[in-house]
Amino acid sequence: MAYFDTCEYCNASLDPGEKCDCRKARSERKEHEKANRKKVRKIRRTEQCGELLPIIQTA
Ligand SMILES: [Zn+2]
Repeated sequence: MAYFDTCEYCNASLDPGEKCDCRKARSERKEHEKANRKKVRKIRRTEQCGELLPIIQTA
């Protein structure tokens, strides 16, 4: 008695209750974009704060 769900987006065969990677990949991509934006903001902040950079260079 085996049955499979089918992904409504890419028609992949899924185990009962399994969520397809195609949707997971989309949400992960969004998380990556959010993380990258945070990184860019951090870099800009350290560039604006000129006091930190000379300390790192001399050390
Ligand atoms: Zn899918």
